[in-house]
Amino acid sequence: MKSSLNATRRAREIQRVQRQVLDVLVVGLGATGAGAALDAASRGLSTAAVDAHDLAFGTSRWSSKLIHGGLRYLARGQVGVARESAAERGVLLRHTAPHLVQAHPYLLPLTPAVSRARARLVMTGYRLGDLLRTAAGTPRRLLPGPVRVAPGRALDLVPALAPDGLRGALLSWDGRVADDARLVVAIARTAAGQGAAILTRCRVLALRGDGADVRDELTGEEFTIRARAVVNATGVWAGQLAPGIELRPSRGTHLVLRPGALGPLRAGLHVPIPGESNRFALVLPQLDGSVHVGLTDEPIDGPVPDIPEVPESDVSFLLEVLSTVLASPIPRNLVAGAYAGLRPLLAGKGGSSGDLSRRHAVIRSPGGVVTVVGGKLTTYRRMAEDAIDAAVPHAPRSRTARLPLVGAARSGDGAPPRLIRRYGSEAAAVEELAARDPALAAPVLAGQPTTRAELLWSVRHEGALTADDLLDRRTRIGLIPEDREAARPAAEAVLRLASE
Ligand SMILES: Cc1cc2nc3c(=O)[nH]c(=O)nc-3n(C[C@H](O)[C@H](O)[C@H](O)COP(=O)(O)OP(=O)(O)OC[C@H]3O[C@@H](n4cnc5c(N)ncnc54)[C@H](O)[C@@H]3O)c2cc1C
Repeated sequence: MKSSLNATRRAREIQRVQRQVLDVLVVGLGATGAGAALDAASRGLSTAAVDAHDLAFGTSRWSSKLIHGGLRYLARGQVGVARESAAERGVLLRHTAPHLVQAHPYLLPLTPAVSRARARLVMTGYRLGDLLRTAAGTPRRLLPGPVRVAPGRALDLVPALAPDGLRGALLSWDGRVADDARLVVAIARTAAGQGAAILTRCRVLALRGDGADVRDELTGEEFTIRARAVVNATGVWAGQLAPGIELRPSRGTHLVLRPGALGPLRAGLHVPIPGESNRFALVLPQLDGSVHVGLTDEPIDGPVPDIPEVPESDVSFLLEVLSTVLASPIPRNLVAGAYAGLRPLLAGKGGSSGDLSRRHAVIRSPGGVVTVVGGKLTTYRRMAEDAIDAAVPHAPRSRTARLPLVGAARSGDGAPPRLIRRYGSEAAAVEELAARDPALAAPVLAGQPTTRAELLWSVRHEGALTADDLLDRRTRIGLIPEDREAARPAAEAVLRLASE
């Protein structure tokens, strides 16, 4: 397949990009950089994109997986950001990734801590959000409007809620991506299908307006990539390659609970954070039955780590907030994993990082490098379009708003729904791999749905080069450390099989 990424193609492309002067070099293969590579390649520009680690190694895999309509921004009067968010949500739901992005319901329980006035205010916000949906042309069929539900219905949807004093709940819908890392993989593969060279484990050592010095992290070999335009999409690391770009990262932590820890969950939860007027903790049911609970917002100082650590204070804070709406609190030992990401917020004036602008910025450095930073997963496509518009002023117009990502389809030839939500139209091919070889049909871990066939597919077509790529970014088994260790031998066996 033209969109397949694997070790053989990587080696070939590393040679190819050294022989020519490219139109565009993109640094960073999170959602933004992969999006920029796709935007450029689909305009017919010769393009390469590199990442020091793997696809979705950075912040893009640590999100809440919400594809939002921008309600939060509306509440802060950032109407432009909210409108852009709603428009991009519609693009993903309707055109580019209907397999990965779908609507999900959330309840805001009306406990005694939520005054009637506050409930009215939040409902007004939801209705405004619904207007943004209409304005963006997203049909109600794909994203239902908000309603107030009675206590019985609320408890039906989330039986774990504390019934005492519950006046009902506000039920609203928003977009949700099945897996943020898989969204990045789909964007990068679509870019590859349009001819872009997608080079993971290639670290940029120095960046200029006409190219970069790069080190192949697998061989240690250094080489130069020359390009007429250069886009820096390295998120929280952007300032390291483009001096003058100043970021003020903020840590967001999520907890991972095993399936069943909160009982049946037919909706997620918005849990008001005590003492804050416009912040909610989120209970986010995942497709595999596990539940993520997020999220904190803590400014961090000092060097940016490759993988942010979760302090115990974040864990206890989230468990405390969650306990304000549950019949019985979740004990610490039910937290099977936890992860943190750093928001790439631009430094600016103002108080808490929660108040910093979430809009993206496109900044041209004196040497000509164009940095695109800030924004959100939801708006990656628009960020990418703006970056390429700035980097290549006379390029043809962006085509990505109607360009389906690899796998884009709502159904998948009778394949199991779980596979369709992760692989879309490729689900049947993944299923066929398992059908041909019983060893590949075996689950990676007892009691878990992921099969070895999925891992092999990732090595052959999705650019997975190591066991970490398989466990942490092509699947999310690695979110629970215990499972990660137990699944490692299977991942290594699949890598050996693929290289035979
Ligand atoms: C906790 C949390 C929750 C969030 N939830 C949501 C949400 O629900 N919905 C939403 O829309 N947004 C959400 N966001 C925001 C969103 O996740 C980010 O804005 C987005 O993922 C940033 O993507 P990016 O591609 O710009 O950066 P990244 O994903 O960080 O990618 C940058 C890449 O650059 C690479 N890199 C760095 N230095 C170099 C180098 N020298 N050479 C080569 N490569 C390099 C890194 O390896 C990395 O892969 C959340 C963010 C956080 C932190």
